[in-house]
Amino acid sequence: MNAAAHGRPLLEVNDLKKHFPIRAGFFSGITGYVRAVDGVSFTISRGETLSLVGESGCGKSTVGRTVLRLLKPTAGQVLLDGVRIDNLSPGRLRPLRRRMQVVFQDPFSSLNPRLKVRDILAEPITNFGLAKARSDLDDRIADLLDKVRLPRDAMNRFPHEFSGGQRQRIGIARALAPGADLIVCDEAVSALDVSVKAQIVNLLSDLQRELNLSLLFISHDLAIVEHLTHRVAVMYLGKIVEIAEKRTLFSAPKHPYTEALLSAVPVPDPSVRRTRIILAGDVPSPIRPPSGCRFHTRCPRAFDRCRVEEPALRAVGPGHVAACHLHDAPASAHVA
Ligand code: SF4
Repeated sequence: MNAAAHGRPLLEVNDLKKHFPIRAGFFSGITGYVRAVDGVSFTISRGETLSLVGESGCGKSTVGRTVLRLLKPTAGQVLLDGVRIDNLSPGRLRPLRRRMQVVFQDPFSSLNPRLKVRDILAEPITNFGLAKARSDLDDRIADLLDKVRLPRDAMNRFPHEFSGGQRQRIGIARALAPGADLIVCDEAVSALDVSVKAQIVNLLSDLQRELNLSLLFISHDLAIVEHLTHRVAVMYLGKIVEIAEKRTLFSAPKHPYTEALLSAVPVPDPSVRRTRIILAGDVPSPIRPPSGCRFHTRCPRAFDRCRVEEPALRAVGPGHVAACHLHDAPASAHVA
């Protein structure tokens, strides 16, 4: 399904920046900035999953936290259902928080160990005034446990009584509790065993369809996102370098960084051979990103121009944009 084709996007992010100041000491002035997110734009439609992928340290989790306003943006715009939320006061933001929730990587540290599951799930429902009576609250909690395929008696137990996968189901139920439209899954399956990972990915995929949710699925693992995403945005050193529909990105990537990431994804068919592209060196520091194309220090296809001129995101096919001089064309740039 191409959910992107329908109407106004639920989430629109325009030229988002998040720079963290660096100070030499507690009383010192600012000596520089970590440019964690440095001009990122994308949209997510209602009922669509967009995966944001890249190596650790590329800024993808900071994008998620800034979109959710857990971090204040340095610049740029974030619109939820057409309403700008990047500049709202905490009071005006509060009712909108109900509509955007998060599932973190480590369910154990994100669930209060002293609360029973019932109380963990009741908290967002009562905070947003969504249950009229005790019986209504109980019904909602039972329904949430059904949705994440946990037995109803789970509500009387504490987080430590569950396995990692079950705890992540509780984390998902908590995100669903206030009736969110947008869920940011921040490396939500990365800490789980392979078989449990697949179960949680399937659950998220089912819930996304059943509830017409929009998901921003943040992951360093392209193999995992292939099973649940509609589109993929690839991030490198604070910038998006390519966005495309899943099938297009996996079969015909245009950016050398995407090609390298894909070369590491195992192919299920043993007769298909894929040559692994090993990138030299580590991701450079976001304090002083390389000149020109930020990827030029590691790109196997870099040429002179790459070192001095930054490539813009350009249309390279229908719904497909990439930032690479190899694909420069007169066509005007736009963001999918
Ligand atoms: Fe590589 Fe140059 Fe393209 Fe950057 S612009 S990805 S360095 S070829």
